[in-house]
Amino acid sequence: MKPPPFEYHAPASVDEACALLGSLEDAKVLAGGQSLVPLLNFRLARPAHIVDINRIPNLDRIYERDGGVAVQALVRHAGVEDSELVARVCPLLSAAVRLVAHRVIRNRGTVCGSLAHADPAAELPAVLLALGGHVVARSTRGERTIPASDFFTSVMQSALAQDELLVEAWFPASPKKSAIAEESRRHGDFALAGAVRAGDRLALFGVAPTPVLADPKNPTQGLQPSGDVEASPEFRLHLVQVLTDRVFAA
Ligand SMILES: Cc1cc2nc3c(=O)[nH]c(=O)nc-3n(C[C@H](O)[C@H](O)[C@H](O)COP(=O)(O)OP(=O)(O)OC[C@H]3O[C@@H](n4cnc5c(N)ncnc54)[C@H](O)[C@@H]3O)c2cc1C
Repeated sequence: MKPPPFEYHAPASVDEACALLGSLEDAKVLAGGQSLVPLLNFRLARPAHIVDINRIPNLDRIYERDGGVAVQALVRHAGVEDSELVARVCPLLSAAVRLVAHRVIRNRGTVCGSLAHADPAAELPAVLLALGGHVVARSTRGERTIPASDFFTSVMQSALAQDELLVEAWFPASPKKSAIAEESRRHGDFALAGAVRAGDRLALFGVAPTPVLADPKNPTQGLQPSGDVEASPEFRLHLVQVLTDRVFAA
């Protein structure tokens, strides 16, 4: 399968990438390409311009900040998986990233790409929400910090504006009592549903258009998950109850 035609841009700096995003009509950022390239190949996305950020130097660091870990835009899932810093400061993130697809995909896919893509069944948006983290977005208009609670707006929609580059995500240190559990049909598939515990906080994924915070004592309250060939709404509700029990027993 071939993608539709587009104009390719490979900026050499964040400023250059932001200038492109600010001036081009209908441009998409390319990071790991593990979600965007299939969308292009299936012709589900037809951007006029692709802004490939992979050649920007100094955008692949994981570092300690404000008691948590900051993960820059070109950090691959595998980099987080292998990071001793993440394992020490935010073991919840280490555990969650191992549930994303398979290692070969994690070698290319980025943590910030997962957040920007905002798939409702993805693990990392729910982890960011449960921990109360944030993302940092940059454009020619300046830089802003967006809390996870404001970032995920609908199915594969985020608060990022068309001209903004997500430059960094910040995950607070995970509380001692933290855990993630999910159920999928096969290892490496997207989850049918999942639960993330960070201390007393609970975030659920796969059961609403965005990850949601829920009451651990009554996790299914107000939820209206959709059904598909993989799972009915009732089964998804049953799953999140079981998974919530599991993360709070862990
Ligand atoms: C077989 C398979 C199984 C998978 N299973 C899972 C799974 O279980 N869980 C899961 O969470 N994911 C899964 N994925 C998706 C994968 O993890 C992707 O890597 C991830 O969703 C997107 O990251 P990326 O770096 O590849 O982004 P890309 O594909 O490059 O981009 C995805 C979207 O995010 C935007 N974007 C990316 N980076 C930025 C940025 N810095 N600033 C602004 N916008 C940006 C792009 O414009 C695009 O719209 C799977 C993928 C495959 C192919």
